[in-house]
Amino acid sequence: MSKCAVCTTKKPTLECGICHSAICKSCTDFVDESTFRYAPQIPNKLQASSTYCLNCYTTDVRPEIEKYENLLAEAKEIRVYDITQTKETRLFKRLEPVIEVKACVDVPEATIKLAFITASLGFNCMIDMKLKTIKIRDGSYQTSEVNGSAIPTHLDETKVMRDRSFSDPN
Ligand SMILES: [Zn+2]
Ligand SMILES: [Zn+2]
Repeated sequence: MSKCAVCTTKKPTLECGICHSAICKSCTDFVDESTFRYAPQIPNKLQASSTYCLNCYTTDVRPEIEKYENLLAEAKEIRVYDITQTKETRLFKRLEPVIEVKACVDVPEATIKLAFITASLGFNCMIDMKLKTIKIRDGSYQTSEVNGSAIPTHLDETKVMRDRSFSDPN
């Protein structure tokens, strides 16, 4: 009978999605959509499977998770102006195509997903954000989802800081 490629003792019941080694459950790292919850999609090379051996996890999966977590941290720092704030943002550049998210569970999720896309495109601000809650009737059960859009832009933080400290007596 074959043995797990990692621990070489247990019976393998799973397969690594990258090197295709037969591995046992206790030697498997599981990765699924929830790991990349706020990303528009799972990184390409991780789409085919959700199970990985330790080796592939270390060399291929963990760097993707780190990249995701760094972008998520950046996304949380993104400045957000919604569509009602066009007065504040009237001088901002609107050069980028509109980004969209669909079928989010709620407003905070739609916002962070838009911010994630903004961060991954290399911008630090999004403007003209529109969020639309749509009611969905499924038989007698009613639920809702949120669609959103925004325009990524670059905001000169030093300028904002200067504006803010304008009245500072120092
Ligand atoms: Zn094993
Ligand atoms: Zn592997």
